[in-house]
Amino acid sequence: MANEPKYVFDKKKIDDELLGNIGNAIMKEQEQELNLFRAGLEADGADDDFSAQDKRELEQLLSLVHKLEKDVMIQRVTFAMNENDRQKRLATSSATDKGESFKKTVASQECGTGCCSCCKCFSCCLKNCFRCFDSCLSILSTCCCMCLIGSCSDSCLKCCKCCISYPVKYQFDFYNWGGTINTKNNEGYFFSVFDDDMLKWYHPATTRDDIRSIVKQATQDNKRIRCFGSRHSWSKFFGDDNTVLISMLPLIPALLNFDFLPEKYPDLELSQKDGDLNYLSMYEKSGILTVGGGVTNEMIRKYLVNSNSNWQIPMNVILVEVTAGGVLSMICHGAGKENPTISDIATSVEFVDPKGEVYEVPGTLPNGQEILKSASGAFGLFGVVTKLSLQLEKKAIAVYAPAKVPLDKAIPPPGSTSVDDIKAFYNTCEMTYSEFFWFPGSDQVWVNSWNTTNQLPDGKKLTLEYPDEKQTWVQEVRNYLFGQFRWMNSQLGRYSWWRTLRSNLAMLWMPDYSNDPVYTPKQNAIHFGRGIHNMKVRDTEMEIPLILEGSNEEDYVAWDRVRAFWSAAVEYVRNDLNVDLTLEMRLMGGSEVTLSPQKGNKYTLSIEILSMAPTSLNEDTWNPKWQVSMQGFYNLMCTVAEQVGIPPLMVRPHWAKETTLSVKELRQVFEPQNFSIFNSHLSTVAQSRGLTRKDFFQRFSNKHLDALFRASP
Ligand SMILES: Cc1cc2nc3c(=O)[nH]c(=O)nc-3n(C[C@H](O)[C@H](O)[C@H](O)COP(=O)(O)OP(=O)(O)OC[C@H]3O[C@@H](n4cnc5c(N)ncnc54)[C@H](O)[C@@H]3O)c2cc1C
Repeated sequence: MANEPKYVFDKKKIDDELLGNIGNAIMKEQEQELNLFRAGLEADGADDDFSAQDKRELEQLLSLVHKLEKDVMIQRVTFAMNENDRQKRLATSSATDKGESFKKTVASQECGTGCCSCCKCFSCCLKNCFRCFDSCLSILSTCCCMCLIGSCSDSCLKCCKCCISYPVKYQFDFYNWGGTINTKNNEGYFFSVFDDDMLKWYHPATTRDDIRSIVKQATQDNKRIRCFGSRHSWSKFFGDDNTVLISMLPLIPALLNFDFLPEKYPDLELSQKDGDLNYLSMYEKSGILTVGGGVTNEMIRKYLVNSNSNWQIPMNVILVEVTAGGVLSMICHGAGKENPTISDIATSVEFVDPKGEVYEVPGTLPNGQEILKSASGAFGLFGVVTKLSLQLEKKAIAVYAPAKVPLDKAIPPPGSTSVDDIKAFYNTCEMTYSEFFWFPGSDQVWVNSWNTTNQLPDGKKLTLEYPDEKQTWVQEVRNYLFGQFRWMNSQLGRYSWWRTLRSNLAMLWMPDYSNDPVYTPKQNAIHFGRGIHNMKVRDTEMEIPLILEGSNEEDYVAWDRVRAFWSAAVEYVRNDLNVDLTLEMRLMGGSEVTLSPQKGNKYTLSIEILSMAPTSLNEDTWNPKWQVSMQGFYNLMCTVAEQVGIPPLMVRPHWAKETTLSVKELRQVFEPQNFSIFNSHLSTVAQSRGLTRKDFFQRFSNKHLDALFRASP
C-alpha cells in the first residue's frame, strides 16, 4: 500500500478544461470536497497514502468533473463557445472592478437593449436573484452575465447555473431508422448543466430555449438546420451532409442505430412546464391537447388512457415511438373513413424562426387559419416545431375485434357473386377504423377493423392496458427476432415457400377476437401493435382518392373501387417475391392541408407494400429490385385508378415513405399550385417576422426540398 504512488490532484489540467474564473470557483468547491475526503480518511486512521480503493473513489469523484472528456458520446465535442470571444469579453471588462462598470452600463440601459437582448428582466439580475437567467440564451454569442466577468467567482454560483451551462458541438453521421438515409459530418449540440452539487452533466436539447440557442448559433455559422424525432421517415427530408441536426428526443439512443429498443423507450416523463419539449397540457373544456414537439405517441396514449380526461385523439399512426413534431411535419394519418390527417386537426403550431425567435400559427397573422393549412404540414420549412395543439374528440371505447378472414371473403374481388361477402365488406368499410393486412402467401387476411361504443355491455370489463405489459414484451421480442430474418431473406428470398412460411408464421401471431372482443380505450386500439420498431422494413405507400370531394357518388362506389385496387395489388404482390412482408390497406377521409396527399378527396385509400429488402447501406446484400417493385406497384395503382374513373395523377405517395417519383413527378402529382400556395403562406409568415421566405429556406431546407419548392438557398 505504502508503495503506491500518492494521488495527484491535477488541478491545472482540470482548470484548462473548465472555464476560467467559473472553473476556478467550481474547482475550489471540488478541492474542498476532496480535502474533506482526505481529512476524513486521515481521521479514520488511514495514512497519507491512499489505498487502491480510496484512489478509485477519488478518481470517481474527479471523473464527474472530467465528464467532458470521459463521456463516450461526446468524444468529438468542440466548444461551441468561441474562446476568443470570451477572452475579448474578459479583456474589455476588467475582472478587478467586480462587474461595477458592467452593472452601471446595464442599469443605465434598463433592460433588453444591451448585449443580452433575449433577457427581459435585467433588473432582477442586478438585484442578484438571477431568476430570469433560466431562459438566458445569450451564452452562445455575447454573454453578459456577471459571473463571466468575474464578479461572481466567489459566490455559490447556484443562482447562475444556466449561464455556465453552455452548448457544445459534436459531429456525427446520421442514419434514419429504415437505413435509407445516411448523411455525414452533421453537427449536434449538447448542453451542459450543473446539478445542485455543481457537478456538470450533458444533455441534448430539451427545451424551446435550447432549440432557440441552437438556431441562433447555426444562423451565426450560416449552417442549415433539420430536425429529427424517432427517425422513422424513409424519404429525403432529413438533412444533407454538414447540416445541424436537432434531435427532438433527449435520449442519446435516438442517435444510435439500435435494432432493439426496450419496452419503455422512448417513454419519457411528461412535463407541465411550457417550453419543455416533453410538455403536455389538456384543456378539458374544449378538448385541445397541447404537446411539445418531442412528445411521443406513447406519452400521449398513456396520458389519455390513464388521466381523467374525457377526450381522445381521433386517429394516429400505429407506431408509439414517433414524435408529435415528426408526425405533424410529415402529414401522417391513421384510419377510418371519416378521419383526415393529424395535421388537419392541428389548431395551432409553435415554431422557432431563423432568428431563433418563437412564433405561432395562426397566432395574430392575417389569414392565420389559411396559413395553418400549410404550417401544419410543413416538413420543417416553417422552422422547428416546438409545440402544437390538436383538437381531440370525445372519449369512446373501442370494441376491438380483429379477425382472420379468408382472402376472397375479406375483400371480395370484382366479379364476386356472394352478396353476403360484399355486404359484410361494405360494413367493414363503414366502421370507425378499417384496416386490412395480407402476408403474401397466406390464404387469409387479417381484418383489423372495429367500431366504438360509449357503454360497456353487461358482464364486460374495460381493458385499460391493451396490449398489456406481457403482450407488449412478447411483441417486442418477436418482432425483433422476425427482423433478423433479413439476412436469411437475402439467401432464401427467391423461394416462394420461404415467403409463405414466414407469412403463415406472422398470421399465426396475429390475434383473432371476433368472438370475444376486447373493450379498451380507442387510444389503445389505434396503437394495437408494439415492437414494430424492432423490425426494420422498407415501405412505399400511396394515397388514392376513392371519391373526390364534392362528388355525389354513393359510398358503395368507393368500396367497390377498393375491391378493384386490392385485387390488383394482391395479384401483383403474389408475383413479386421482393415484396416479402405485407400488403396493407386502410380507409380514411380527405384533407384540407395544402400539401397533403389526401387533399381533394372525400374518401382515400391508403395502400402500401412492405419489404425486408436490404437498403443501399447494406452494401453486402444490396440489390436494386425493391426499387423496381415500388415503381411497378405505383404504375399498377395508376392503371387501376384510370380503369375505375379516378385521375391517375391524383395517386400520390406518402411524404414520409419511399417513392421512386422524381422531383418533377412529385410536383406534378401534388400540383404546382399547391407548392405556390405553400410558398405564399411562408412568405406571409416571413414578412411578419421581418424576414423573407428565402431566409427560411436558407436555414431550414435541404437540397431535395429546395428542388421541390423551386427555392434557391
Ligand atoms: C414502422 C412504421 C410505421 C409507420 N406507420 C405509419 C402510419 O400508420 N401512418 C403514417 O402516416 N405514417 C406512418 N409511419 C411514418 C411515420 O409516422 C413518419 O415517418 C413520422 O414522420 C415519423 O416521426 P418521427 O418522430 O420518427 O419523425 P422523423 O422521421 O424523425 O422526422 C421526419 C421529418 O419531420 C421533420 N421534423 C421532425 N420533427 C420536427 C420538428 N420538431 N420540427 C420541424 N420538423 C420536424 C424533419 O424534417 C424530418 O425530416 C410509419 C413509419 C414506420 C417506420
